[in-house]
Amino acid sequence: MVCCVFASLPQAAAARNIAFNTGRDARCHSLPTAPAALGQPAFFSRLRIQMDILRRHRRTKIIATLGPASSSPEMILQLFHAGVDMFRLNFSHGSHEDHAARIQMVRAAEKQTGRPIGILADVQGPKLRVGTFQAGRVQLQTGQQFTLDLNRAPGDASRVCLPHPEIIAAAQIGSTLLLDDGKLRLRVLRVHDDKLLTEVIVGGVLSERKGVNVPDVILPIPVLTEKDRADLDFVLPLGIDYIGLSFVQQAKDVLEAKEIAAGRALTMVKLEKPQGMDNLEEIMDVTDSVMVARGDLGVELPPEEIPVAQKRIIRAAQQRGKPVIVATQMLESMISSPAPTRAEASDVATAVFDGADVVMLSAESAAGQYPCEAVNMMDRIITRVERDEDWRTELDAKRPQPEKTSPDAIAAAAVQVAHTINAKAIVALTESGATALRVAREKPDCHVIGLTTNQSVARRLSIVWGVHAVITEAAHTMTEAVENAMKIATLEGFAQKGEEIVVVAGVPFGQAGTTNALRVARL
Ligand code: PGA
Ligand code: MN
Repeated sequence: MVCCVFASLPQAAAARNIAFNTGRDARCHSLPTAPAALGQPAFFSRLRIQMDILRRHRRTKIIATLGPASSSPEMILQLFHAGVDMFRLNFSHGSHEDHAARIQMVRAAEKQTGRPIGILADVQGPKLRVGTFQAGRVQLQTGQQFTLDLNRAPGDASRVCLPHPEIIAAAQIGSTLLLDDGKLRLRVLRVHDDKLLTEVIVGGVLSERKGVNVPDVILPIPVLTEKDRADLDFVLPLGIDYIGLSFVQQAKDVLEAKEIAAGRALTMVKLEKPQGMDNLEEIMDVTDSVMVARGDLGVELPPEEIPVAQKRIIRAAQQRGKPVIVATQMLESMISSPAPTRAEASDVATAVFDGADVVMLSAESAAGQYPCEAVNMMDRIITRVERDEDWRTELDAKRPQPEKTSPDAIAAAAVQVAHTINAKAIVALTESGATALRVAREKPDCHVIGLTTNQSVARRLSIVWGVHAVITEAAHTMTEAVENAMKIATLEGFAQKGEEIVVVAGVPFGQAGTTNALRVARL
C-alpha cells in the first residue's frame, strides 16, 4: 500500500531518498520545481495522505528490540510502518554479524522511507551468571546448603562455579543472591577467599548459565566488561545513536562510557540496580537518557517498589528534559498471544499518562510470534490515551518549571504562543538537538518539528516526546530559516495554507545552545 502511494509521488519520495543518501535535505530543492503541481488540490491531498503515513500522530514513541523474529529487511520496514521509532540491538544475544546486518537493514529502511530512525546498541554489562552443571541443571531444596566457588568444573546439587572473584570478595554474611530472575534465593552463611557457602532460602530448578543478581552488594566491577568494550569497538564505527548501559550504579559509570563513545553516540542509562536508584540524581545529571529497566530492577527490588521507582525516574528525567523509556514486560503475553492482557494495556497507558517519552518492546518483538501486532497494539494504546482529556490535564499538572536560561524562556514562550494562536507546529531549528529537547520538555499541545542539518541529531531525536525530526540545509538568515520551516511544515503534513507555525532558533545560526529567537509565521 505504501509503495503504490510512493509511486504516485516520485518527487517527494525521491527528495526523501536524496536527503538520506547525502545527509542533506533535498526537499527544499524539489519544492520550487513543482509549484504548479502543488497548487493542484488533488495532488495536494495525495501528498497529505502520503505524509500522513510517514508522520506519527502520537507524541509518545516506540522502541522495538530486534531478534530472530524480526531481522529481515521486510520485517523491519513493516515494524517501522506499524510505529517503531527506534530499534534496539540487544548485545546479550546474537553475533556481531547479526547486529551489523540489522544495522544495515534499519539504514535501508531509513532510505526507503526518508525518515530518520534511531538505533540503540544495548550492551550486556556486568550480568553475573553461574557456570555449567554436569547434568545441565540441578534441583535445589529449600533449607539445603549450596556452595558458589571459582572452580570451573561442572557443578552438581552441592556446588557450582560463580566465575566472579570480585563478587565473592564483596559478599558478606547475610547477603542475598537471586538466581534465574529471582526465582531462587540464597543467603550467604560463610565467606571464604574462593567460595561462598550459602543456605537455599527458596529452592527450585537451577539450569546452567542462569543469571545471578546481588541486590545488596555494590558491584565492585566496571560497568563496561571486556565483552562490552569489544562490542562497542565493533558497533560504534557502524553508526549507532545510543549506547544502553546495563547495571549503572553511579555517575562515574556513565562518564566512562562517554569517554569511549567520544561523541559518536549518546548514553542511555538502564536503571536496574538499587544502587543506581540511590544515585539517581547524580546519574541523571550526566546521562543523555534513561531507561526504567524493570526486568532486572524487578529482580533486585521487591515488586511493590517498581511502580514507585518508575515514577521517580520519569520525574527526574522530565525535570532535566532528557528522554525516558519504560521497558520490559509491557506486552509480555503478546510473545505468544495476539492480544495483550488488560493489565498490560493499562501498563502502557500509565507510562503514556506519566509523560514517558518512549515505551519499549523486548522479547515481544525480538523473539515473539506477533512482533507487528505488539507494535500496533502499543500504537493504538498510545493514540487512545493521547486523545483523552485527562492525559493533557496530567501533563500540564506535571510540567516542570523552566530553568532560568534563555533557551528555556524561549521554549516556554513558544509553547504558550502556539497554544494561544492554535499553531499547528513548533519548528525548532536545532543544531545539537538541545532546542528541540527544551521545547519537548514543555510538552506542547502541537507537534514539534526538529529541523537539523545533522543526520545523527535527527536520529537521536527519534525517541524524544512529540518531536518529528527532519534533516535540512543550513539557513543563513532568520528569514530564510522561517521560509524553510514553513515549507517543511507543509511538506511533512503538519500545516497547510492559512495556518500558523511558531519557529524557535538560535541566532547566529550554527552555534549550539544559543536559542534566543521566536517567530510566528502564517503559511
Ligand atoms: P535487559 O534490560 O533486557 O537487557 O535485561 C532491560 C531490563 O532489565 O528490564
Ligand atoms: Mn536488564
